[in-house]
Amino acid sequence: MTDTMADTVPNPVPAEPIARRKTYELVAERLVDMIGQGALRSGDALATERELTERFAVGRSSVREALRMLESQGVIRAEGGSSFVVAEAMNPLNSSLRMLFALDERTGIHDLFELRRILECEAAALAAERKIPADLAEMDAATEEMAAALADSGLADDFIDADLRFHLALAGATGNRLVLHSMHAVRDVLRRALLTVYRIPQSPESAVGEHRKIREAIAAGDAVRARDEMRAHLDRVELDVHKGGGDG
Ligand SMILES: [Zn+2]
Repeated sequence: MTDTMADTVPNPVPAEPIARRKTYELVAERLVDMIGQGALRSGDALATERELTERFAVGRSSVREALRMLESQGVIRAEGGSSFVVAEAMNPLNSSLRMLFALDERTGIHDLFELRRILECEAAALAAERKIPADLAEMDAATEEMAAALADSGLADDFIDADLRFHLALAGATGNRLVLHSMHAVRDVLRRALLTVYRIPQSPESAVGEHRKIREAIAAGDAVRARDEMRAHLDRVELDVHKGGGDG
């Protein structure tokens, strides 16, 4: 036992300097503090993006990124178009799935797409059985936002937000809260992979067309077709992710 102690060498891994905090992280931290201190309670609306930009004297993109991060962590949730409220309960699935992805190096993009197929093909079928008009309208709005993002800004972020919004609307259309929570968690790790897909020529255009086909099948109440269209969409996107070298 004493031998073991004597043989112990100091930790050979040099301490690396901690990266400087990013502005959006500081903004997010400030908002979390306000919630923690009770200045903002569950269900309270957050100030608008513009108000927060002025209040914190930071760039709008930092506020946007902070809101997106807090939303994906389940701290806040979107309500209506672009406003946010403090969430009732955090979604612990989000942080665990993200953590798993970061820590378990054997987990890759292919696993993520397999999980998506398991989750989203059945979600599409369920949505087709229920075909609730409000959910269809939300899917339409998301798909039109994708098309608009392609036409005007060409900004990958806007496009990807709208793309993910479609998939969340579809998950919500199942009427199953756990499916929706799971999709929220998947979205969080998916965002990075989608950035690589956006750069593949014709990939974003294909996504718009595929979303419309999925939506049509759901509106027609055709569960089999909805499942098949979702599968075709996910298979194509996964292929493009690998083409884009985004298998990390
Ligand atoms: Zn999609």
